[in-house]
Amino acid sequence: MHRPDAVLVRYGEVGVKSSKVRTDMERRLRDNLEAALATRDIDGTVERNWSRLRIDTPDPDAAADAAADTFGVVSASPVVVCEPTREALLSTLRAAAADHPGGSFAVDANRAGPDGAHPFTSRELEAEGGSVVENVTGAPVDLDDPAVTYGVDCREDEAFVFTERRPGPGGLPLGTQEPVVVLLSGGLDSPVAAWELMKRGAPVYPVYVDLGDYGGPDHCARAVEVTERLARFAAGFDTRLRVVDAGALVDDLVASVRDTRMLSLRRAMLRMGEVVARDLGAVAVATGESLGQKSSQTGTNLAVTDAAATLPVYRPLLTRDKSDITEQARRIGTFADSTLPVGCERVAPAHPETGASLATVEAAEPDDLLERAVRLARNPETVDAGADGGRGGDESDR
Ligand code: ATP
Ligand code: MG
Repeated sequence: MHRPDAVLVRYGEVGVKSSKVRTDMERRLRDNLEAALATRDIDGTVERNWSRLRIDTPDPDAAADAAADTFGVVSASPVVVCEPTREALLSTLRAAAADHPGGSFAVDANRAGPDGAHPFTSRELEAEGGSVVENVTGAPVDLDDPAVTYGVDCREDEAFVFTERRPGPGGLPLGTQEPVVVLLSGGLDSPVAAWELMKRGAPVYPVYVDLGDYGGPDHCARAVEVTERLARFAAGFDTRLRVVDAGALVDDLVASVRDTRMLSLRRAMLRMGEVVARDLGAVAVATGESLGQKSSQTGTNLAVTDAAATLPVYRPLLTRDKSDITEQARRIGTFADSTLPVGCERVAPAHPETGASLATVEAAEPDDLLERAVRLARNPETVDAGADGGRGGDESDR
């Protein structure tokens, strides 16, 4: 096969927007793809091409992988570009078939352009292409479950042939929504929550709350590792971890509050996240909580926690099962980094409250808890790992 010399990038939801929104989103996707190529040291230029994007690059394989890690992308295919003529297409298919000798196959052709742009229909291309492939490989046609699908995309002035579609994450291009602070423990759930928000286009600022003796450097290191992994999906955005030092606050909380201390800690954390959010222009604070996963995550207790927040609290994993979250963590590569039981487990009392009233929790916690949380979060330490010095999520050209 001629070596693939470009990548076709397909996007989904972006395509159904009004034309103004769509143009902005396409532009953003293009910029994000360029940033993804740049951070991976892949040469390439990205152009809008009908309702696709096209990457011209000497390394289509790596570029397709970069595209498959870019939010908004539905799929990416390394393609061979050829003339939109019958001869050129059949000869390109013949070369591609020589590279895929075994297994059943199908040819899937699409044609776009004004009437009469091509002297053949897509059906004819599929039939003639099928014969060509059959001649080369001797393999049977199987339209239902082919081992190889030869894709043909024929436009007015050029055509593409490909045999792979690498699935992307879908969603919306990063930066098309406003940024969100994510409380990131480095545990299993919160990185997945961050990823889900990024998938909907919201850049995230991860905030780790250092629990002092109840956390530890290993926990923080996990959070840093996970942040680096998330940054891979956010080329060009500021995803540096912000660390709030809450060791003394947690010590005091553990010494003075018993059954409801977990809830007070969660309230303090939300307040900290909020301070960072306002500072950085983020519109909400997100957590990896899921209904009923822990005693602090019952409906009643979530309401008590929420009462300490003045920004919206996003819980993208609210209805997700642990097994499903775990599987996703493996898929996006945050699992290996996050198998420690981190989070704030060690702070938990022997008999945590599952149905506390706000009044009870407030009465038990130190009067200045939330104010103290605010003070601590004013100057978080910014960890440089995972940063690429690129544009922030709140940049003005969004
Ligand atoms: P995770 O949910 O992060 O995988 P976990 O299940 O042990 O770990 P919990 O202790 O139940 O989490 O905490 C619930 C949520 O609170 C987390 O998803 C995260 O958003 C936030 N959180 C917990 N601990 C911390 C921390 N040390 N720093 C920042 N956020 C935290
Ligand atoms: Mg959890």
